Amino acid sequence: MTVRTRFAPSPTGQLHIGGARAALFNLLFSRHHGGEYLLRIEDTDRERSTAANTQVILDALDWLDLSPDMPPVFQSTRQARHAEVAQQMLASGHAYLCFCTAEELREMRERAMAEGRPPRYDGRWRDRDPAEAPPGVNPVIRLRAPQEGETVVDDLVQGSVRVANSELDDMIILRSDGTPTYLHAVVVDDHDMAITHVIRGDDHMTNTFRQLQIYQGMGWDLPRFAHLPLIHGPDGAKLSKRHGAVSVLEYREQGFLPEALCNYLLRLGWGHGDTEVLDREEAIRLFDLDGVGKAAARMDFSKLQHINGVWLRRADDDRLTREVIQRLAAAHGLHADATGTARIRTLMPGLKERAKTLADLTESAAFLLRPTPLPFEAKALALLTPESKETLRQVASVLAATDFTPPALDTALRQFAEAAGRKLGQVAQPLRAALTGSTMSPGIDETLAALGREEALARIALAAA
Ligand code: GLU
Repeated sequence: MTVRTRFAPSPTGQLHIGGARAALFNLLFSRHHGGEYLLRIEDTDRERSTAANTQVILDALDWLDLSPDMPPVFQSTRQARHAEVAQQMLASGHAYLCFCTAEELREMRERAMAEGRPPRYDGRWRDRDPAEAPPGVNPVIRLRAPQEGETVVDDLVQGSVRVANSELDDMIILRSDGTPTYLHAVVVDDHDMAITHVIRGDDHMTNTFRQLQIYQGMGWDLPRFAHLPLIHGPDGAKLSKRHGAVSVLEYREQGFLPEALCNYLLRLGWGHGDTEVLDREEAIRLFDLDGVGKAAARMDFSKLQHINGVWLRRADDDRLTREVIQRLAAAHGLHADATGTARIRTLMPGLKERAKTLADLTESAAFLLRPTPLPFEAKALALLTPESKETLRQVASVLAATDFTPPALDTALRQFAEAAGRKLGQVAQPLRAALTGSTMSPGIDETLAALGREEALARIALAAA
């Protein structure tokens, strides 16, 4: 049997990071077992499922490198098949026609609530002859669910989960307008797509009990189920806007790398010893569902930042340069010409040592493109005392005669400091302020080399004036 998994988002909005994690686990599980990973767009809610929303999800999956092995299946194109299966269930007696009017259903609900019972369909058409149908009512098709015994889900994450069948009412599988209900469509599609493992959020657990009854009614083989605990906020409540970013796009905008987000989402609720940092290949090799915890995972934003920092340092410098250049243009209107690009690329190894996100990295690189006079942070301005301005003038004449490579610059600055009876930092700090407008940058030798002699001397002269 080839393992086949699927991610099945409803395109009603952004891809939530809980969804991204489900997609990741589906992909890793299928890859680990040499199987296939599919995508089904569950666009049955025609009003909320827009093409734009679908595109947003496809883009987010692509960004995370979680695109499926085959083109996506669109659930809305399969309605005739959903109806066909509902008719087969009807013909075999596993489903029946129900002619209740909206009015009757409302009364049923109100009565149940008044009597303190859960509002469930009372099965009044279960054994009634359709010949008794009132005129003008289009029937729905309801599942004839077993009323005794229990339904058990043997879940790969949650273990054996059971419910008394008396708790489940006869759900609608086909509406009176001939459209399938969502619960029914999912089963038909999973069966037809030959899905062997349904890996999804545990908010779907209650659906699974009812869905099993459709498989049983049709005599279909059951897939294995794995219900993943949801992601909670740091305070233990269900993750929401109030805690921070919830959509993949927001994380992207905040400057997280896709490999870092995947790494973090993998570690959230799945463990492999103390290993924190895993690339995709290692994740595929190590991932299996038995490492998934049963308890809800708590989002830890500072850990995500930490992991992102690790991935930034591992990332290719040309790629980071491209990202930073785009962000500098978008966020600051600073456009990089060839000189500016070269400055950023030269300093990238030093810049990325200090950044946690692409946003940080962009901020720290902005001085390389800023026209003079630079805006100065208060702390940097405070370093430009009359005394340090004098030092800057002296340093400038040394630098004018130094080769602009980090080792030569480092040697020249050390010799200057020693001759002047100062510590290197006493020279480097005002110099850094002059060059960057701030008190933080990579090593002063690298910073000087990245700016180049002409630009560096111009900045020093301005600051010393
Ligand atoms: N479309 C459902 C959702 O977005 C997922 C259904 C499933 O995975 O079975 O929550």
